[in-house]
Amino acid sequence: MAALQQCINPRCEKQFAIEEVLYACPACGEPLDVEYDWNKIAPPKSLKHFEQYWQQRSNPHRRSGVWRFHDLLPFLPIEHCISIGEGQTILQQAHRVAPYTGLKNDRLFLQYEGLNPSGSFKDNGMAAAFSHGAFIGAKKAACASTGNTSASLAIYAACTGLMQSIIFIGSGKIAYGKLSQALDYGAKTIQIQGDFDDAMARVQQVAKEQSIYLVNSVNPFRIEGQKTIMFRVLEALHWEVPDWIVVPGGNLGNSSSFGKAFIELHRLGLISRVPRLAIINAAGANTLYRLYEQEGLRWNGGQCDKTLTQKFFERMTAEGRKASTIASAIEINRPVNLAKCLRALDFCNGVVREVTEQEILDAKAQVGAGGLGCEPASAASIAGARKLVAEGIIEKSERVVCILTGHQLKDPNVTVAYHTLEQQGVNEFANRPISVENDLERIVASL
Ligand SMILES: *Cc1c(COP(=O)(O)O)cnc(C)c1O
Ligand SMILES: [Zn+2]
Repeated sequence: MAALQQCINPRCEKQFAIEEVLYACPACGEPLDVEYDWNKIAPPKSLKHFEQYWQQRSNPHRRSGVWRFHDLLPFLPIEHCISIGEGQTILQQAHRVAPYTGLKNDRLFLQYEGLNPSGSFKDNGMAAAFSHGAFIGAKKAACASTGNTSASLAIYAACTGLMQSIIFIGSGKIAYGKLSQALDYGAKTIQIQGDFDDAMARVQQVAKEQSIYLVNSVNPFRIEGQKTIMFRVLEALHWEVPDWIVVPGGNLGNSSSFGKAFIELHRLGLISRVPRLAIINAAGANTLYRLYEQEGLRWNGGQCDKTLTQKFFERMTAEGRKASTIASAIEINRPVNLAKCLRALDFCNGVVREVTEQEILDAKAQVGAGGLGCEPASAASIAGARKLVAEGIIEKSERVVCILTGHQLKDPNVTVAYHTLEQQGVNEFANRPISVENDLERIVASL
């Protein structure tokens, strides 16, 4: 086949067959990429190439927002690619949310990934990883999850019956919308005493020992599927490249995918300029922000300063510092895709910011008031865009795409608390329910 796996370390670049199940390079320990031999598979000559598929919506592979772009992620023959209808998502111009960010009314676009079958962007990557797992004959697939990866794995397992899903969650915060999905879809659910970073470490051990297929974003095929979020953004903008992509950063799989998408599109001559990338951490889980903006960690042609990160994580362990944020989907202190993310920041001239809990919640309420609800982590992108406009890094007239990573209904508790709880005056955009006696006159008076 004309696709293979390759170590991202430029001094190693060892290659492995697509059929091998690896989550890191056995030689040097660095992550793997999926690479294509474009001499053997002719790439599309222009992005307009994909418009021919719009007429073929009765074909599930053409309808899928992931497999419609198979020509740019051809690691399996299309007949082995599994679809449950992922990627039917929209890029919505958000003129009602734009003023909050400080952008001109027609400059803000929200990529609404909450419309995926399991309600988050994770389905883009899961379609690809699940297909690969099934292709190599795995019978069990596992992940550690703050909630959405497990919901996504569970729905693919339930819909197809091809693999048993096993999920590892921490004992702390998990949004009930997400947990309810995993339970409903029949995932074997292991709740370990620890946080996400602990669950992540354990699931990697278990997957290795038990040869269970791992679908966290250390899996390079997840990254392939998530590239298509960017392809759909471009598709919605008539193949014009926006000025900025703003995305919340957790395990940094999404930002890594976006960077890889633009690297490849540029290399293939399918785009002539590259958008800037802004990755937004929650202040309570700000490893990337600290390393990139404060400690100056850079991709550096693949020679990242390993001692810097090592010291950073040692200090974190010594201080017993744990990730803590209401945005549970990005409550991660040890992001597994750090290296690939640095590559993305390098290629896309990126910036990283952190936002507070209040900034996240207020931004979320504004997204909701604009009619496209999202979960807290997603709103970090809006809060981050607002911050970058205020700093003058993003100009008011630039075209900005924020990724709404997960659906509003994933975490209703946070939303209801914001609108109802005491803290009068703190939640600037609270829409309080009005309590009134069961009496017509009083009801009318309260309207
Ligand atoms: C997983 C997730 C994120 C974080 O994405 P990474 O790729 O891990 O950085 C953000 N928002 C939501 C809703 C998620 O489910
Ligand atoms: Zn290597």
